[in-house]
Amino acid sequence: MKIKTQYAMVLNLDKCIGCHTCSIPCKNVWTNRKGAEYMWFNNVESKPGVGYPQKWENQDVHRGGWRLKGGRLKLKAGGRLHKGINIFHNPDLPTIDEYYEPWSYEYAKLVNSRRQRHQPSIRPRSQLTGEPIHLRWGPNWEDDLAGLGETGAGDINFKNLEYTTYLQFRHVFMFWLPRLCEHCLNPACVASCPSGALYKREEDGIVLVDQERCRGWRYCVSGCPYKKVYFNWKTGRAEKCIFCYPRVEAGLTTLCAHSCVGRIRYVGLLLYDADRISEAASAASGCEIYPAHLDILLDPDDPAVRETAAAAGLPAHIIAAAARSPVYKLIKAWALALPLHPEFRTLPMVWYIPPLSPVSQHVESSQAPDFIDHLRIPITYLANLLTAGEEAPVRQALKRLSAVRQYMRSQRVENRIDAQVLDKAGISSDTVEKMYRLLALARLEERFVLPTAPIQDDDIFIRQGGCGYGGSV
Ligand code: SF4
Ligand code: SF4
Repeated sequence: MKIKTQYAMVLNLDKCIGCHTCSIPCKNVWTNRKGAEYMWFNNVESKPGVGYPQKWENQDVHRGGWRLKGGRLKLKAGGRLHKGINIFHNPDLPTIDEYYEPWSYEYAKLVNSRRQRHQPSIRPRSQLTGEPIHLRWGPNWEDDLAGLGETGAGDINFKNLEYTTYLQFRHVFMFWLPRLCEHCLNPACVASCPSGALYKREEDGIVLVDQERCRGWRYCVSGCPYKKVYFNWKTGRAEKCIFCYPRVEAGLTTLCAHSCVGRIRYVGLLLYDADRISEAASAASGCEIYPAHLDILLDPDDPAVRETAAAAGLPAHIIAAAARSPVYKLIKAWALALPLHPEFRTLPMVWYIPPLSPVSQHVESSQAPDFIDHLRIPITYLANLLTAGEEAPVRQALKRLSAVRQYMRSQRVENRIDAQVLDKAGISSDTVEKMYRLLALARLEERFVLPTAPIQDDDIFIRQGGCGYGGSV
C-alpha cells in the first residue's frame, strides 16, 4: 500500500442557487487577462443542457478521457505515438464557437454620449477581433431556460429517457452544476501532454501546467474529458484551474469555495492508496468504477492506515487534517457525494451531492416506499450524470438526504422523534445529527479543513516551479 494525500471538493447540488458568485472571483484573479477572456476555470452550467464547451460530456464527439482496450487503459484519442504522427493536426479540439466568442460592450459610449432625445445603446464587440458581433452562445447560455427545447437532444444524460417528455410543463426540471478541474487521480490531461508539462503535485494531488515546459500542442485540452484545460491564444500555452494553490498552501480555501453564497462547497484532504489507481480506473464496466474508486480512499481514523501513513513519512498534521476532513465523511462514510461521470476513468476528485428536488407531498409522506421515483429530477438522469447509469447509489444518497430533512423536521417542528424514517434510510440518529450539522449549519472551519504548509516541512511541501501567469499572481 502506498498512501498519498489528495485535496478533494464536495459540492452539495441540493443547495446551489445558480448565482455564479463562485465564477467571478476565480475569473477576476486567474483569467482576467488577454488570451484568457473565454476561460472560466469555474463555471456554472444549468442542467439539462449541453454546457460549456458544447457537448463536453459526449466523448464520441470530443474523444477525451480513457477507454479500456484488452483490459488495459488507453487514452481515447490515441497514445503518444499517434499524437507524435499527428502533432500538427488535432481534430478533437473544441472550436471557439463551442466555448463562445468572448465579448464586451462599448461602455464608454454610455458615459460620453452627448445629450440626445433617446437613451444611447451599446453593442457587443468581440474581445478577439474587436468587431461588433451577434451573440449566439455563452458560457451559461442555457441558464434559466435549461436549454431543453434547443439543446436537450444533445444532453447525453437523457440516455434511457425520452427527453421530449421533459418539455411538458408538469415534467420540466432543472438544476445547476458548478464545474471546475477535477484534479483527477488518473488525469488524462497529464497522460496526453507530449511535453510532460502537466503534472500532479506529489504532496496534495493538485494538477498544474508548467508554463515553462508547455509547447502549446493542446493535447491536454482534447485529452481532458471535462474540458477543463484551456489554450491561451496570447501566450500560446495551456492553462487550467490551479485549485488556488497559493491560498491552499496558506491554509485558505479556494476562491470559488470561499465565495460560495449557498455554502454548498466542502474542501479537505483524503488519504488514498496510490498503488491501486490503475486497478480502480480499469474496472470492467463504467458502473463498477465508482465502487472501485471509493475502495481506494482510506479511512483516516483507522489506526492501521494512520500507522502506515506515518511510516510513509506523512506529517502528523496532514494525517490529523485528513481525519477532520469533511469530504471523507460526505464521500465515503455517508456515501452522499458521487463522482461526475466516473465512466471517463480519470477518477475525478470533485464530488457532487445529488439535488433532492422534492415534490413536497411525496417527500413529506415518506411512507410511500417509492417516493424517490416521484422527485422532479429523474433518478436515471442523475445516475447517468454521477454513477455511469447505476441508480442504487443515487437512490441511497437521496433517501439519506430526505431522511435528514424528515427526522429533523419531526424533532424541531412536530416535537416528536420519527425513528421509522431512519430505519428506512439505514442510518442512526447520531449519524443524522452529524449529517445535519455538516450539511446545514457547518461553520467555515468545519467546511474547509486545509493544513498550512509549514516552512520546515520542505520535504513534503516542495514548491514545484509554479503555474506563473506573467507575474499576475
Ligand atoms: S479534470 Fe483536470 S485533472 Fe482531470 S483530466 Fe481534466 S484537466 Fe486533468
Ligand atoms: S457561488 Fe455557490 S451557490 Fe452560487 S452558483 Fe456558485 S456554487 Fe452555486
